[in-house]
Amino acid sequence: MLVNMNDVLYPAKRNHYGVGLFNAVNLELARGIISAAEATRSPVIMGTAEVLFPYGPLEEVSYYLIPMAKKANVPVVVHLDHGLKKETCLKALELGFTSIMYDCSTDSYEDNVRKVREMADIAHSYGATIEGELGHVGDNEGSAEGSDQMADPSKFYTDPKMAKDFVDKTGVDALAIAVGTAHGAYKLPPKLDFERIRAIADTVSVPLVLHGGSGLTDQDFRRAIAEGISKVNIFTDINIAAVEAEFKRFTNMNKGIIDLIPAAVEAVKQETEKKMRLFSSDGKAERSYAPREHILSAGLTGKSVASMNRAELEKLVEIVALQVRKELGT
Ligand SMILES: [Zn+2]
Repeated sequence: MLVNMNDVLYPAKRNHYGVGLFNAVNLELARGIISAAEATRSPVIMGTAEVLFPYGPLEEVSYYLIPMAKKANVPVVVHLDHGLKKETCLKALELGFTSIMYDCSTDSYEDNVRKVREMADIAHSYGATIEGELGHVGDNEGSAEGSDQMADPSKFYTDPKMAKDFVDKTGVDALAIAVGTAHGAYKLPPKLDFERIRAIADTVSVPLVLHGGSGLTDQDFRRAIAEGISKVNIFTDINIAAVEAEFKRFTNMNKGIIDLIPAAVEAVKQETEKKMRLFSSDGKAERSYAPREHILSAGLTGKSVASMNRAELEKLVEIVALQVRKELGT
């Protein structure tokens, strides 16, 4: 079922597990990710990023991501990762993405607030969620996400008080923070500032996002989630898993790409499942709530409360009550 980020991240934040964002620039990646989510009964966030458009244009990717999310028997968020231009975010929302990230983290603080505030209103009018970034997560050499290597990344770490101000002023649903990770594959082991994660989690009310997660140790992930991370972005690990599997499968006897596709899908599935278990999102599909799904199946979409008859109002109350009970765990 297609849901937005709040549907999967608030239960994660309350119950101290993480939900992965896995970017899916082609069908093999998308199939591997969805099969892993269904096999582990895990909620999942699937998407693409603006820098990945050369490998899979946004519109084309949307043709399979959104129907696959709807068809899945677990909650799936279709998310635009690192939207850099306003037009890109608007296009994603128009295409039916249920979540976007508008990354203005290299702008001045004032511009970041102003631009993200404006986009948050637009995203919310679509029933979609929005992630912002404060501080700046840089890139390892050769990263697919970019080439912004920083001499001293700690200068760009997120400040907890500023984070609260940013969330209050912009209305973002989730916040990406800079605490020592970088995009792409690491040359030297990263050092995470766990105290800072805790301090930000204690100060802001929205779920926190860790970018540049591929290559961290299992221990790092567990601790980052324990200290307050609710969403972890993964791309490099599944990207590499797919190509390693194809490489191993390749022989001169191959008939062609059709011999390699199943190997790539299976490798992405295995790697994604591993991450889902590590983040403890496995078995949590039923915990995520999707009021929109119920409202949709009850035929109540697009109706204002004032225009509903008694039976429709009762149905709506029932849906809301169900979600509240789920949230309270009763
Ligand atoms: Zn990122």
